[in-house]
Amino acid sequence: MMTNFFQERNGTRYVEDLALTDIAERFGTPCYVYSRAALTATADEFLAAMDGTVDLVCYAVKANGNLAILNLLARKGFGFDIVSGGELARVLAAGGDPAKIMFSGVGKTVAEMEAALQAGILCFNVESASELNVLAATATRLGKVAPVSIRVNPDVDAKTHPYISTGLKENKFGVSFDEAHALYRQAVALPSLRVTGIDMHIGSQITEIAPYREAAEKLLQLVRALEADGIALEHIDVGGGLGARYRDEQTISLAAFAQMLREVFAGRSERLMMEPGRRVVADAGVLLTRVLYLKPGETKNFAIVDAAMTDLMRPALYGAWHPVSAVTKRSATEKSSDSEKSWDIVGPVCESSDFLAQARPLVLREGDLLAVGVAGAYSMVMSSNYNARPRACEVMVDGKEVTVIRAREEIKKLWEMERILSK
Ligand SMILES: *Cc1c(COP(=O)(O)O)cnc(C)c1O
Repeated sequence: MMTNFFQERNGTRYVEDLALTDIAERFGTPCYVYSRAALTATADEFLAAMDGTVDLVCYAVKANGNLAILNLLARKGFGFDIVSGGELARVLAAGGDPAKIMFSGVGKTVAEMEAALQAGILCFNVESASELNVLAATATRLGKVAPVSIRVNPDVDAKTHPYISTGLKENKFGVSFDEAHALYRQAVALPSLRVTGIDMHIGSQITEIAPYREAAEKLLQLVRALEADGIALEHIDVGGGLGARYRDEQTISLAAFAQMLREVFAGRSERLMMEPGRRVVADAGVLLTRVLYLKPGETKNFAIVDAAMTDLMRPALYGAWHPVSAVTKRSATEKSSDSEKSWDIVGPVCESSDFLAQARPLVLREGDLLAVGVAGAYSMVMSSNYNARPRACEVMVDGKEVTVIRAREEIKKLWEMERILSK
């Protein structure tokens, strides 16, 4: 669906109307390149599919928090799901509406709660009894009333990677079904809290609708039990987690997802909300990198590139698979050394887990450019300065135009906050 924004023309890969070769020349590599048209198309598709079913789509900022991206989504009417005070500040700096922000996460600090209460956010997704009490005390101290939704853990198997599964009993997230009802009773009794909703989030990169249906049905049972107990909710938030297509995964149809929600919540008057991250931005970005050295060997062929796990950690962290393509296609017959080989695409970092891709059939020469696809989500946001590597720049393409939306980090900034001892 997004392929038309990242197409090949005369053997060269483009992002919209700009060749990636031009972008590399102007901005250097490694560089994250986003397509504004791809981002807007997905955002529009999301809102259209959920129109009339989901009242508020809160984009999960942690998938990609660049201000330009947040701002474009805010202009489209998206709300935001945040997990830290830093993300709150980002959303506000990007022009997001505080009344459309929900605050998730198991470890909110008092300072973060204060900032969110002062900003006047939509609600806190509370994840434990202790957090509820601290939030109540914090709100009392500020003379505010905190809007509260409790994140319940529906104990369903989202059938995804164990590191990104969050809705099982053994995960640290949410409150168990058994505890949740008692916690709601506690919450309604506290004058500095206003109970507004219920929330779940069962994992990430989910490719089947069945776990959502199962979890939503369980959630509804709890909503009914609460209602019978005199606790009426204003909203039901079904979380995020919709998978992207990296390789050949079947992605969940947004229309089918909306249909499932209409079926499960038929006849209910609560506003429905959701918190997608990955699915909104994954397809909108590629990581552009250049081959430094080719190191063919007896058992493996290594293509050492200028991007590393510090730029894109998902392969090292979860063994994630990203598509990799040559920006300029070489034909295997041009020169005898240009035979197709199976390459491991690795970075310069001193870790054996520093790979971007493994065993990819490509015809490569040193100096060639590669595009690592589906790199709009959980990519730049996870970058680090390990090995004193400055973070890559990020650019946004719009037709033939391109804007730097984050400058390449300057090396001297890396130690700006460090001090040498005087003796
Ligand atoms: C990460 C997260 C999301 C978004 O997950 P995606 O898989 O990116 O859609 C939504 N809600 C919460 C609470 C999260 O932690």
